[in-house]
Amino acid sequence: MPIAYQGEITIVRGRIAALDPKPGAVVLRLDGRRVEFPDAWAFPGLVDAHAHVVGLGLAQREGYLRGVASKEECIERVRSARTQRGEWIVARGWNHELWSPPALPSAADLDSAFPDVPVALKRVDGHALWVNSRALEIASIHAATPDPPGGAILRSDDGQPTGILLDTAMELVERFIPPPSLDDIERAILIATELCSRAGLTEIHDMDVEPSHLPIFTTLAENGRLHCRILSWVRGQNQEWHTAGVLPTVGELHRVVGVKLFADGALGSRGGALLVEPYSDDPTTSGLLLLDRETIVARIERALDDGFSSIAVHAIGDRAVRVVLDAFEEIRSRYPHSDDVRLRIEHSQIVHPDDLSRYVSAGAIASVQPIHCTSDAAMAQRRLGDRTRNAYRWRSFLDHGVLLCAGSDFPVESHDPLLGIEAFCRRIPPGFDTAWHPDERLSRSDALDAYTIGAHRAADTSYRRGRIAVGLDADITIVDRDLETCLDDEITATRTFATVVAGTLYLHE
Ligand SMILES: [Zn+2]
Repeated sequence: MPIAYQGEITIVRGRIAALDPKPGAVVLRLDGRRVEFPDAWAFPGLVDAHAHVVGLGLAQREGYLRGVASKEECIERVRSARTQRGEWIVARGWNHELWSPPALPSAADLDSAFPDVPVALKRVDGHALWVNSRALEIASIHAATPDPPGGAILRSDDGQPTGILLDTAMELVERFIPPPSLDDIERAILIATELCSRAGLTEIHDMDVEPSHLPIFTTLAENGRLHCRILSWVRGQNQEWHTAGVLPTVGELHRVVGVKLFADGALGSRGGALLVEPYSDDPTTSGLLLLDRETIVARIERALDDGFSSIAVHAIGDRAVRVVLDAFEEIRSRYPHSDDVRLRIEHSQIVHPDDLSRYVSAGAIASVQPIHCTSDAAMAQRRLGDRTRNAYRWRSFLDHGVLLCAGSDFPVESHDPLLGIEAFCRRIPPGFDTAWHPDERLSRSDALDAYTIGAHRAADTSYRRGRIAVGLDADITIVDRDLETCLDDEITATRTFATVVAGTLYLHE
């Protein structure tokens, strides 16, 4: 059924009160106002089902190295921006896969530009930290420092730390970096939600949220300052939500709904994502398991006892996905009436053929980021060899009856949902002439579903939104073309005229 809508939409108290379909324009009637958008199309509000709101806002203010094409340029940008927290120079977003050769950088690369001040630069995926020698010195990391559980200090042949810290090893340095102030966090949230609103998003599933940030979201929501609805999945790797006493909340624009865990790391910082078989470009490793099955089960049980209705577990490698499915199956058997609990596997990037149907039996939702596929295709080919046929399996998920929701993982990728919709439908990575594993492409309506009704089902909000229908929330994205039928190469040129969130109109032109 097409979801693109033209005609009148009457909005009363945040809900759609009446519809009068007519071709040619979108007309909103709200609070006695009549606003007409000629030649426009209305869609159910677009949702980003996996993102990091504070990360995007901070990245806009602190050094943002996403897409920078060389190590030298990264260093130059950091040198000229010198964004600091306390004495530390911080930035994020570098990606050595874009450099030639695509080799990880080292502390020595930073030392000549920054001999005295500590520098900590986070990789684009947030799973690796590139630091200089001064930072290693402050954190007392040397040849004899052991790798912490769930992390790695990369070392040269003579055993010295290279300046790259993976996953939990990042904390060895991060504990010395002053956190941003709560004022900085508030500004970051406002910057990020406004950017997202202009890109056509009406709702964000915010992942791995720090407990101390939750009251800021709530206050901004109560004061009408959030331009998108925010649903929070709170940090839970070390039971942070429980220690902080966070419980689920209900609210119109901000709700605390779930807990976020990590089973493994990322594919880019090789050794992160946990694979069934070793990495094709490094047979000495199969990756890192950050939480074992028993611990995942224990965390979920505690979260359910605390009243949360959704658990999101990050799993990228096929082995990590399997461990999470094992854990979900155990939860489903211990809680036979847990159908309304949303168990999500964030990323679900590499899925062994044996495990596809287990998503359905374990009641697991696949929360994917289509833009990761095109951005990472070249790197994934090196890491995975011919296992790439098991990677980014969107069509396979739908064919197996798996619920699919989509997001961007911003600031890891752009927050623009059009890029994700295009990646779903075209699947052509930069530098490729044709679609990569074209069988896994989605139709336009399946792609849009993953950004609308699929995302709402994944958050148990589909009884209130995800369609343009009388009685549902007035969450609407108004654009200049029919995203269901326009040509593939016109998707990303789409302009967003306006968004409506809970009946409030935001004009973007
Ligand atoms: Zn993420």
